Amino acid sequence: MTSLAVKEHVSLKSFNTLAIEAHCRYFIAITDSSQLPDAVNFAKEKQLDTLILGGGSNIVLAGDFPGVVIHIDTTGITADQQGDSVLLEVAAGENWHQLVLWSLSQEYFGLENLALIPGTVGAAPIQNIGAYGVELESMVEAVTGWHCELKAVQTLTREQCQFGYRDSIFKHSLKDKFVITSVTLRLQLTPAVKLDYKALADFLAGKELLAPAPSQVAEAVIAIRQSRLPDPESIPNVGSFFKNPMVSPEKFESLQSQFPDIAHYIQADGRIKLAAAWLVEQAGWKGRVEGRVGVHQQQSIVLVNHNKGTGKEILGLAGLIQQSVAARYGVELEIEPRVY
Ligand code: FAD
Ligand code: NAP
Repeated sequence: MTSLAVKEHVSLKSFNTLAIEAHCRYFIAITDSSQLPDAVNFAKEKQLDTLILGGGSNIVLAGDFPGVVIHIDTTGITADQQGDSVLLEVAAGENWHQLVLWSLSQEYFGLENLALIPGTVGAAPIQNIGAYGVELESMVEAVTGWHCELKAVQTLTREQCQFGYRDSIFKHSLKDKFVITSVTLRLQLTPAVKLDYKALADFLAGKELLAPAPSQVAEAVIAIRQSRLPDPESIPNVGSFFKNPMVSPEKFESLQSQFPDIAHYIQADGRIKLAAAWLVEQAGWKGRVEGRVGVHQQQSIVLVNHNKGTGKEILGLAGLIQQSVAARYGVELEIEPRVY
């Protein structure tokens, strides 16, 4: 086992894509998962909370973190071909988008719609990352990690992960108890592209790509995202700040009678998914600037840090948006990133 390197009073500005200036009391980078038990014990002995950190693209630092940041920086991929599929066991610290590109270069298919999502592989199961009609769960075979209370390595099957819409067991009963060390994905050796997301289908049709290869789907997703989403490197953000709310058919009917154009998607379970972006835009927030933070010009659910804003300022703006959407539509917007 490699010994732990514990740093003190580390700035987290370059470790969160909102570029919020906040410090942690202790910072430990994990380069080998065998270091995890000692890192978790270190925090326990000091009686401090831990923050498991990947790429920092789905967290909001409301202030300094007085505990121990455990930064997952492990690498490694193993591939095991089985018939028409391949099982990839990927270390939690690997970069998600690089994995997507690498898998396509190996002709392993399935991840193409999830191109250009920032962050690490280990964080991907936490909110069951999804985009352009595909969610991670459809490819997950297992998730392995360190159970901090049982003090043991555990492997969960896809069913045990209890995946839902931007949701999993890691946000509920295993919250702050389970450090993901690797994710095992089953990808396909025969392409089967998924093009039912309208924005993606329209883009490909515009390029006259009616039967695109998976790499062309990934290129299309990358191009659409680059044209619509702010790059955190130039405009700090954490992607969608609010989840799309799900409402009952009754609630939807009453909303639609008042707002006939309301954007909505009927779910398999009968509930209706509303587009948070539509609600926020119609409530007049798109492009608004509030001091040093604001709402992106093109994406109304992306809150941006214009100029050294704090986490409190971002959360203050989020609160104003939540209040205004609740007052107008009677719908509660839930914050998607984890607030610390
Ligand atoms: P972090 O921000 O570091 O952590 C997020 C949470 O996961 C924290 O609670 C953290 O403690 C926990 N965590 C991280 N790693 C581990 C681990 N190994 N074990 C246990 N817990 C862990 N999300 C989507 O779903 N779809 C999108 O299309 C999408 N697009 C985005 C676009 C932009 C521009 C941005 C900035 C974000 C976007 N996101 C999207 C959100 C984000 O990229 C994903 O949620 C991503 O999986 C977060 O990875 P991360 O490594 O940065 O996680
Ligand atoms: P968009 O295409 O403008 O669509 C707006 C919303 O409508 C999306 O949130 C999407 O829900 C929903 N939607 C569109 N077509 C749908 C369909 N056929 N069936 C069900 N729902 C549909 O969205 P966008 O903001 O440009 O984002 C494109 C994709 O990237 C979306 O899938 C989005 O989730 C993902 N993305 C996520 C984040 C994040 O941080 N979570 C950030 C950027 C982009 P879904 O969100 O459920 O897909």
